Amino acid sequence: MMIKKFTFLCKPEVVYGENSITQLPDLVKSTGGKKLLLVTDTNFSKTAIIGSIKQLLKEKSIDFAIFDSISGEPSTETGDECASFGKKEGCDVVCGIGGGSTLDTAKAAAVIITNGGSVREYQGLDKVPGPGLPKIMVPTTAGTGSEVTFTAVFIRKDEKKKGGINSKYLYPEFAILDPLLTISVPPSITASTGLDALCHAIESFISKKANFLSESVSLSAIKLIWENLPSAHQNGSDVKSRTGMLYGSFLAGVGLANAGVTAVHSISYPLGGTFGVPHGVGNGLLLPYVLEFDMPEISPRLACIYDYVYGHSGNKEIEKAEKFISEIKQMLKRFKIPRLKELGITPENFSSLAEDAMKVAVPIENNPKPITVADIIKIYKSAY
Ligand code: NAD
Repeated sequence: MMIKKFTFLCKPEVVYGENSITQLPDLVKSTGGKKLLLVTDTNFSKTAIIGSIKQLLKEKSIDFAIFDSISGEPSTETGDECASFGKKEGCDVVCGIGGGSTLDTAKAAAVIITNGGSVREYQGLDKVPGPGLPKIMVPTTAGTGSEVTFTAVFIRKDEKKKGGINSKYLYPEFAILDPLLTISVPPSITASTGLDALCHAIESFISKKANFLSESVSLSAIKLIWENLPSAHQNGSDVKSRTGMLYGSFLAGVGLANAGVTAVHSISYPLGGTFGVPHGVGNGLLLPYVLEFDMPEISPRLACIYDYVYGHSGNKEIEKAEKFISEIKQMLKRFKIPRLKELGITPENFSSLAEDAMKVAVPIENNPKPITVADIIKIYKSAY
């Protein structure tokens, strides 16, 4: 068997299991930190979960300050405010507890507190000059996989564009994966965040940068998400499904961190930046149409997914690939994921959105089939 050269990285030390959040105080102590910057979003801050985490930290004599001014997907200003707050409070270790918006804010704050500068200065690739504070990430959506990636995404409100900070210094040192923290996620957010994870898993599997190790991780992620997302959506208190989803989204994040994502993410980014479409909704609604565009380059890969998910079948490769895409479309309908039309986006918007999508260059380059502005406009039309 020929295996092309690759590197593979999975950075955080992972603490996994029901109630593993109780290990947070010990992890904070293990970093040598004296004051914790606890980052969460405004909604989640009001929940009993955050109440009990505060209690836990107090019982274990961990000094902490809370930043919870995150509402919606974070802007560059949100990241800078979080960093200023942490610096003013004298924090020397950071924990993000929440969805991707929270984790990204916490990761960015950790590097701005030590390096100075601002989110805008660091958006792009390898622009962060040096290490940040120790980072402990606790995802409560399953989800973005931000707990395992080197990325933090922020909206430039003036330009109506999303852009990531991509730096090795953003890799968290620890991730706590506690499925019980995801039980309270409502069905619509379970669906949209779960579709984001599914996109990471599928896109990293078909990416031009996929390698021997990332492929097996991505495939396992697809199976876990495929088997558990419908039941987690239907019955949020089903711990088994929540567990499968949190593990699946973590693995999808490992796939993403190593093989990248593809055109789905590039075409979705402008929907978030310009029209405020939630990240998972934008990715999910585009996924089947980008996969259709990528056929026939990816039909063997999609057939491989189909066999892995449903067990080996004797159908032709192309039939299995088409069936898999059709199953995704059914899933979008069941989850009531809107079409572009229902989000107030009109065909007149397509050409400027497509121009912006082409500028999200790295995922475009990873796409298994070359793609043009005209192709992207056709994809928006299909998702309309
Ligand atoms: P989110 O963090 O914006 O959260 C969505 C909503 O879910 C919020 O209202 C939040 O309060 C609520 N919520 C979170 N946990 C909950 C819980 N346990 N119970 C009830 N409600 C809960 O959504 P997200 O999809 O997790 O994150 C989206 C952001 O992540 C976007 O900005 C996106 O660009 C970014 N992202 C980052 C990466 C990365 O690698 N860093 C990858 C993908 C996406």
